[in-house]
Amino acid sequence: METLKLNDGGRLPVIGLGTWDIGGGRTSDRSRDDEMTALIRDAIEMGYTHIDTAEMYGAGHCEDLVGRALQNFNREEIFVTTKVLPDNLRYDDLLRALDGSLERLQTDYADLYLIHWPDPDVPLEESFRALNRAAADGRIRRVGVSNFDVPLLRQAQELCATPVVNDQVRYNLHTRAPEQNGLLRYCQENDVVLTAYSPLKDGVLQNGTIQAVASKHGATAAQVAIRWLTLKPNVVTIPKSSKRTRLRENLEALQLELDEDDVRRLNEATGN
Ligand code: NDP
Repeated sequence: METLKLNDGGRLPVIGLGTWDIGGGRTSDRSRDDEMTALIRDAIEMGYTHIDTAEMYGAGHCEDLVGRALQNFNREEIFVTTKVLPDNLRYDDLLRALDGSLERLQTDYADLYLIHWPDPDVPLEESFRALNRAAADGRIRRVGVSNFDVPLLRQAQELCATPVVNDQVRYNLHTRAPEQNGLLRYCQENDVVLTAYSPLKDGVLQNGTIQAVASKHGATAAQVAIRWLTLKPNVVTIPKSSKRTRLRENLEALQLELDEDDVRRLNEATGN
């Protein structure tokens, strides 16, 4: 698996496994536990060594299933990202939420812990005091953020005792906010990895240019959408699928060789 170097020297696979809607959406769904645990295990065996989850997903149950799947593997070989809910950004709440995530994930540490969304009612100073403590005592190996714009990311960098390695935001061919608001450039210039979530959403798979480029290369629209993102400096992505054939298809996007003309056409192909 191709990886990107993080600003603390670690490495992050350019394609990770998204897990939203596994183990439930906003509430837990325990009706397919064995099936979903097996799916995550098979994904890891296929080559997904970065798993992206959150305490929010399935109201914690997604982390349960990731934790079960992890038991079959050498923990050190898997990069686990999880996220703290905006409701838990107070000092004590954050540390308690982290312990809950680690318990469900059946692990002593998260490779990367993100503030899922900022909460304007909780001072970032307070959240970062907790994150710095958790990083110092080893419960989290790296700190990152999600859905932070450039001014908030700068604040986070000032408050964080360790490098902020990552900002996870919505970014795909039709949602170009990170290009338009300067976040992508800021991340590229300041050695922060930008994780593009929802790479296949917002109607991108129906985009005419994506489909034309896909048919030129004998690839699928999803593979073009993913490859277009991973060719950008400092960008990784985390597509989710509950189907093994699609999981493999998405991973194989890395074998797609887009040429300069393809990339130029895709850059110009917005949803409008
Ligand atoms: P994705 O862009 O990953 O799209 C997922 C959807 O695409 C599912 O409906 C899936 O269906 C379908 N799909 C997957 N692969 C293919 C394919 N090859 N061809 C056609 N359809 C396909 O969206 P997500 O919103 O799930 O984002 C990815 C991950 O990012 C999440 O799972 C989560 O981990 C993270 N995320 C983070 C957020 C944040 O605030 N930080 C917000 C949103 C997401 P099926 O399962 O049936 O294959």
